[in-house]
Amino acid sequence: MPIRIIRIALNNLKKLPANYKPAIEGGKPVRENFLVFGRPMLFREEIKEVLETLRSDWWGTGQKTKEFEKLFAKYAHAKYALALSSCTAATELALDILGIGPGDEVITTPLTFVSTANVVLHRGATVKFADVDLKTWNIDPDEIEKATTGKTKTIIPVHLHGRPADMDAIGKIANKHKLYVIEDAAHAAEAWYHGKKIGSIGDFTAFSFYATKNVATGEGGMLTTNNKKWYDTATVRALHGLSADAWKRYSAAGFKPYEAVYPGYKINMTDIQASLGLPQLQSIEKNLKIRNKIWGEYQKAFSKINCLQTPSSDESNIIHARHLYALAFKPEMLKIDRNKFVAALQKEGIGCGVHFTPVHLMEYYRKTFEYKLGDFPNAERIGLNIFSLPIYPTMNKKDISDVINAVVKLVTYYRR
Ligand SMILES: *Cc1c(COP(=O)(O)O)cnc(C)c1O
Repeated sequence: MPIRIIRIALNNLKKLPANYKPAIEGGKPVRENFLVFGRPMLFREEIKEVLETLRSDWWGTGQKTKEFEKLFAKYAHAKYALALSSCTAATELALDILGIGPGDEVITTPLTFVSTANVVLHRGATVKFADVDLKTWNIDPDEIEKATTGKTKTIIPVHLHGRPADMDAIGKIANKHKLYVIEDAAHAAEAWYHGKKIGSIGDFTAFSFYATKNVATGEGGMLTTNNKKWYDTATVRALHGLSADAWKRYSAAGFKPYEAVYPGYKINMTDIQASLGLPQLQSIEKNLKIRNKIWGEYQKAFSKINCLQTPSSDESNIIHARHLYALAFKPEMLKIDRNKFVAALQKEGIGCGVHFTPVHLMEYYRKTFEYKLGDFPNAERIGLNIFSLPIYPTMNKKDISDVINAVVKLVTYYRR
């Protein structure tokens, strides 16, 4: 029982059993067979759909992709959804459609995956970071306001770990300064904000179906919008800039001449990917419920440990997508740093991750833009001390209690 162990661990430090020595120091690990950090869902339905596509005459963008788009648009409460090769590609395409380029500034959070910022650079525009809120770990609207200049064109909020960013405040700033909003919803397909589904709020919303995401197609993404003109443009630019419906050019409908109307990207989704995504989208809510339970167990166990910051409880009127469960170290209360802790946790047999080291501290950003420690203190406080634990529907009771036991064991051993 995890709760009992916490009590032993925290109240009875000196009487800890010998096997409580961390595995990284030569002790016995909490589990022998390694618990992977994440695992894609693969059931009979996925295999059936993919085989059907593989045995058909059409592997490229086709009917399955269109079906997936339709289902996703409905799920996201968006008028239009365009299936693409990744969330990164979706975000860059949105910037391209909005005409963001050299001389323009785009504001985003430093506490995100690098791709959120990289795509701004791909467009030749400038990234301006705005620090995060220490409680929600999401971009702080007051910091967005401070970072806004006459050159600012777009805000890219990220719904970190599945918690929706403060879209009301962000929307107000966007209206005031006439800025576009592109949401990075790579973690947040299931999320709701103030009665609105994520996917129906900003000018564009970008989703990811990368192998580790809740709906996984290996690689894949989706761009949603309610603007028909932008959607039509996106369709053309996602496939070389060929005139509409060019994806049908080799189909049974027969060859039709096409025009290149723009030097577009090659970022379309294939029917093979869509075949994986379709059944997964059907079980997305069921899986959220299971992750929600695991989340609750983690919160119950870890909120008792004062050297760890747990994710804050949900703000009113939101639904958190529960994509990643992360704890933040209070470094002043522990004898080791986050990286050593993550290594120690792996040695206990528990897979874990880091989401994310702040982008401004990544080598390219440090070297190119001369960012340094102290530039975005809140993002650093979280990003340099954060680690993510396994949270996926196929975990069993023992997996969950092993994770809890391993974390408790390590913080007990290494606390100051
Ligand atoms: C995974 C991820 C992305 C990129 O998604 P891809 O589909 O791999 O391009 C973007 N932003 C965040 C926050 C992510 O976690």
